[in-house]
Amino acid sequence: MTDTRRMPVIFSGHGSPMLALEHNDVTETLRKVGEEFFDKYGKPKAILAISAHWYTDGTFVQSRETPKQVYDMYGFPKELYEVKYPVKGYRDLTKEVERLLGNAVSVNDGWGIDHGTWTVLVHLFPKADIPVVQLSVNGRLSADESAELGRALIPLRDAGYLIFGSGNVVHNLRRVEWDNEGGSPACERFNRYITEAVLSGDSEKVLNYGNHPDASYAVPTPDHYLPLCYCLGAAGGDKARAFNNVCSLGAIAMTGYVFGD
Ligand code: ZN
Repeated sequence: MTDTRRMPVIFSGHGSPMLALEHNDVTETLRKVGEEFFDKYGKPKAILAISAHWYTDGTFVQSRETPKQVYDMYGFPKELYEVKYPVKGYRDLTKEVERLLGNAVSVNDGWGIDHGTWTVLVHLFPKADIPVVQLSVNGRLSADESAELGRALIPLRDAGYLIFGSGNVVHNLRRVEWDNEGGSPACERFNRYITEAVLSGDSEKVLNYGNHPDASYAVPTPDHYLPLCYCLGAAGGDKARAFNNVCSLGAIAMTGYVFGD
């Protein structure tokens, strides 16, 4: 394979870990996004996954040949803990990330492939035949700094790697409404605002999300929002399209974006 086309960047919402077991419009769309990706770009050498659930003090990258799958969620049905997504790691990608980020990153294999990553990838790339390396979300970085770090990763896209972020545009567990299949008015407003900004290429608006009156409701903590900022940086100004542009459980947005397709 000598396809040298620049890979797109994918950001996806993940919501409840039960997503892994679901078969609905959201999971069907993820499957299609994965299939379309494959048809156009072929199989990436590996995926650099940036999951909200590896939220760390500093920036870390994984290096294990066979990373363990982490079941980092509690109190869910037994079937969820039986979902397997047995991917390999990819040392060349780890090394490339180290080369691009220099002192800003260090190797850490204390974690693995967490549910932010595998509950989405089981639908996007169900064969689990693409190696995955996780890069942590650095809780010390601002939205701007996260985007800057993402920008440093752009060369990975030209080297056949897929950069994949998993988080949520709106994520407020304290305000979840279990009987609401859609979103609260605040959830809808914020999701619409950010999605319009992403689609129109208004990065400033996305990164300065705190300016929106519903920001403290939508992003009570930055962990689920920052993966989008990394992706935005890695997109390097490439245009985006949205998928799964829906809110659920009142206070979760499932919205995802493909940049540079
Ligand atoms: Zn999550």
